[in-house]
Amino acid sequence: MRYDDAIIMMNMSIQYKKTQMNPHPSATVALENLRFDNQFIRELPADPLTENHCRQVFSACYSFVEPTPVKAPKLVAYSKEVAQSLDLSTESCESDLFAQVFTGNQLLAGMQPYALCYGGHQFGNWAGQLGDGRAINLGEVLNSQGQRLTLQLKGAGQTPYSRTADGLAVLRSSVREFLCSEAMHHLGIPTTRALSLTLTGEKVMRDMFYDGRAKLEPGAVVCRVAPSFTRFGSFQIFDSRKEHDLLQKLVDYTIRTDFPHLGEPCREVYLAWFSEVCLKTAELIVHWQRVGFVHGVMNTDNMSILGLTIDYGPYGWLENYDPRWTPNTTDAAGRRYCFGNQPQIGLWNLTQLASSIFSLIGDVAPLKQALALYGEHFAKSWNDMMAAKLGLQAYQAETDEKLLTELLQVLQLVETDMTIFYRKLANFKIENLDLEKISDDELIAPLFVAYYEPEKLIPAVEKRIADWLRCYLNRAREDGLSDKIRKEKMNAINPKFVLRNYLAQQAIDKAENGDFWMIGELLELLRNPYTEQDGKEEFAQKRPDWARQRAGCSMLSCSS
Ligand code: AMP
Ligand code: MG
Repeated sequence: MRYDDAIIMMNMSIQYKKTQMNPHPSATVALENLRFDNQFIRELPADPLTENHCRQVFSACYSFVEPTPVKAPKLVAYSKEVAQSLDLSTESCESDLFAQVFTGNQLLAGMQPYALCYGGHQFGNWAGQLGDGRAINLGEVLNSQGQRLTLQLKGAGQTPYSRTADGLAVLRSSVREFLCSEAMHHLGIPTTRALSLTLTGEKVMRDMFYDGRAKLEPGAVVCRVAPSFTRFGSFQIFDSRKEHDLLQKLVDYTIRTDFPHLGEPCREVYLAWFSEVCLKTAELIVHWQRVGFVHGVMNTDNMSILGLTIDYGPYGWLENYDPRWTPNTTDAAGRRYCFGNQPQIGLWNLTQLASSIFSLIGDVAPLKQALALYGEHFAKSWNDMMAAKLGLQAYQAETDEKLLTELLQVLQLVETDMTIFYRKLANFKIENLDLEKISDDELIAPLFVAYYEPEKLIPAVEKRIADWLRCYLNRAREDGLSDKIRKEKMNAINPKFVLRNYLAQQAIDKAENGDFWMIGELLELLRNPYTEQDGKEEFAQKRPDWARQRAGCSMLSCSS
């Protein structure tokens, strides 16, 4: 396939739909009967050393390494959809063997554990070799639909890439990764998935805010699932070491395995592939902006080559709409990875990827051309997405450019909860509304609940909000959809329930005291984020005051 064909195909695929792994398994299997086919390690070169000590690993894509056994594995939660996509039966998921396997205490026949070698730019600087310091791939499952899904434990002990760290993960960060992976999937956003969350029965020392107040926390493991865990940094490491043969091997492998529609690898296909990665990345970040997700550490080692959200660390959800907000304390000064910067960081990261595959192309111009697609595609998709958030049938530059620019200003006049704002906006009825007669006060009253500090709605502010609302409602009226249809369309793209930072923290506080109820509750709630749910209103409330400055709610560190 040529690269303009790839672009057309990608444009057609921009829809707000869930990426299903296997919605209708034909029959379930027991854990012991999972079918492994470990193609990655079969086809790509391994580190010849098998001892588990930290080192620079040259001329290899991965190192064989076994998970470290733990004291007392205990299952906290699992995702029934991910289990289903692996064809796993409910009994299997609730068995003792499941907890043993997914904390790394036992290997199933066919599993061949290994850690990936990759590098990356961290906060804009080349950091050299990073690699899976605490992630261990167990193997690739072939499901009944012929899909290939890699199982990966996060927090299962040291690997050759652990550098100075312990290879472990704590409960709080594991709860966050587990819940958010699944929440993102149900929002229709490409993501790695989470099969399970288990406790190890061991304690892990963490200095949460790097301020000398280290304490022991419960150790945990998440089993992540994805077609591949290859990152931009997986390619960068080989280019940085001038291991160009190996770079080509990994690119060829990735194209054949995950982009087979592009055809047999050759220079033209490399370009088509890179263009598709640009488009997928743009599509991903448009989704993040749509729901107010801030990744928090968009280093190139945390960018999936498949355009999946990967590596849930100090991520957060916008509460009040603030483009400069970052959940990551390490990033508080520079705000490199704040909400409003995510689109341009996507491009910066793709530029690093382009530079790392230059040896395969030998010419800068076509790479630049592909990078330009990112901007074009992002702008178009973002406009379409924003128009859809407003319930408009299509983006019209003449009217909507101004409407959107002013909206993003209006949302910042007083702290406005982004999620609540769009849901309330969907309730406006224009069919019998007389925009000439209604006062500003009356007009904006349905939005009051979205404001964190309603006392700051002074008349001048109210007027600006009301002016915008009048423009919007006139535009919606001209658009011609009925109130009912507009509301349905808006509610299908603007979630009611997201994993608000304070909700995740409440679930963590309870879990650390041995009460896992809220993890199950949130997992279930977030399976239907766009639907009104009886008795669940409390989970759609804006951030309470106590959470404004609380660690875990308003700020997070990379310590996990
Ligand atoms: P992150 O910022 O989570 O993407 O991590 C950057 C690098 O540090 C990756 O290579 C991780 O595998 C590694 N890393 C993070 N935490 C740990 C840990 N506790 N033990 C070993 N490696 C870690
Ligand atoms: Mg990472």
